[in-house]
Order: sequence, then C-alpha cells, then structure tokens
Amino acid sequence: MFPLCYKEIFAVRLKVCCYCLFLITSVTFVVASYQPASAQYRKPQTRPAQGGAAVYPEYRSRYGSVHWVRDQMPLKVYISPGLTLDSIMDPKWGAPVANTDNLAAWPNLVAQVVSDPEQFRALKPADGYVGGHYQAAMEGVLSWKIFEREGLFSYQLTDDPGEADIYVFFTNHFVGKNGMALFSQDVRGYTSKTNFPYKAILAGGQADFKPAVIVLRTTDGQGQPMALGKLKAAATHEFGHALGIEGHSTNPGDLMSLYYGRGVISPNDAATIRHLYHLTPDLIP
Ligand SMILES: [Zn+2]
Repeated sequence: MFPLCYKEIFAVRLKVCCYCLFLITSVTFVVASYQPASAQYRKPQTRPAQGGAAVYPEYRSRYGSVHWVRDQMPLKVYISPGLTLDSIMDPKWGAPVANTDNLAAWPNLVAQVVSDPEQFRALKPADGYVGGHYQAAMEGVLSWKIFEREGLFSYQLTDDPGEADIYVFFTNHFVGKNGMALFSQDVRGYTSKTNFPYKAILAGGQADFKPAVIVLRTTDGQGQPMALGKLKAAATHEFGHALGIEGHSTNPGDLMSLYYGRGVISPNDAATIRHLYHLTPDLIP
C-alpha cells in the first residue's frame, strides 16, 4: 500500500508551510559605534530540556536573542475590535502601507496612527471579521499567561489604544506592495517588531521604541470567515513571535513551527520560551 504519492505530500507541505510565511524584524542600532550581535554569532545547537522537551535554536535570529525586559513589564496588549490598517494607503504604490513587502514599516505606522485619535477613529473592521474572532485572538494571546507564574514575563490587555506595547489588527487578506492579493497562500498572520541592542541601551543609548504589530487574517482561502480555532492558533503563534521567538521550530508538532503544530504551546515551545527568558538578550523590542 502506498497511500500518498510524493507529489501530494509535497503539495500539502507547500500549502501548510505558508501559515506564517515571514516574520521580519528590523534592528535599529542606537549608537553608531555599536557592533551588532551577529558579529559574534555562532549557530546554537538544539539542547535538551527537562522532560525530554528540546529548546529549538531557531528562537534566535542572526542578530541574536530577543526578549522584553523587566523594565518594560507588564507589557500592554491592545487587541483591536477587528480593525484593519488597510485603508491607510501608500500613494506611491497604491497599496496599503501595511503590506507584506513593507513589514519593517508597520511599527512606525501603528505608532503614528494610535497617536492621532482622528485617524484611529477612522479605522474600520476588516471584511470577514466576526465577533468570535476577537475572543479567539484574545484566547490565543492569553495562552502564554501560563509562564507569568514562573516569572518569565508579565502582560495585560488594555482597552486604550494609545498605550500598548503590542497591537493586534486584522485584515481580510494580505497583499504585497503592488496590492496583489495573496489569496493563493494560506498565510494567517504576520508579526513585525523593531529590536534594539540591549547593551547599547544599558550603556545609555537612546532608543525610539516602537510597538510590536500583529495582523491576523479574517478569512480563509475560500473567502469564508476564518474558523475560530484557526484564528486562535494564528494569534497564539504570532504572540510567540511578539514575545521574542524569532524563527520557526523545524518540528512540525510545535506551535512555533510553520505548521502551527496542534495550535497550542508544545513542550518544546515551553522549553524554548523558558530558555529564552533566562538569557540576557542581545536585543530588546
Ligand atoms: Zn511564524
């Protein structure tokens, strides 16, 4: 018996691996003379943790490890009531500023929009958004609360869009800079954040901190409202990026793989976030 041909497996994998295609984080250097962490970068090895779970080395980017620090906590998280940034157009491209070729600009865009009450009030819910999407996004974000008890980090939801560190917005579907819809891909979420060298900040460097931005997709490939379980999994995964897991686990069973695992934090994800938050970070958001 030969249940699946290679081609079918390949096709399935291709589709699945687009769940969270990119996480792009830009790094801003706060002092000109600072040497980026990548200068000393060595490829980390997967390391076993307690209970057979493993820390996956992809938690760090080529610039090093990233996590929020105590002085920034409790982090404030604003989950918008379905709002989309898509109405804010880039006149040069004729596409939303928050397009997927322009991820590095998202934190600045959101910082600007939330500082302008009139512009913020003009934002509309994304097409395809249904009431249950808010609850699903919230449940996903709150999934990481289990680590607060261990003192890794702390965060709380806020209703005030002017004060958050991490924002969740929505879109009917993602587009690139030419405005072309990415309908054919099953991308459910993107996260963008700006990171700063921690040592330089400790040495007195000034950083112009920007919020981390998560955008979740409200519809599936057929244009139907995203199933609540899928949106929750996407929110959980993207919040893992917002917390500092920069890359993707190569184990498809992990939440932080491109495949979202079972949509919940796996033992490897848990081992990895614990390991990460016990390190002195190279970068902070
Ligand atoms: Zn991802």
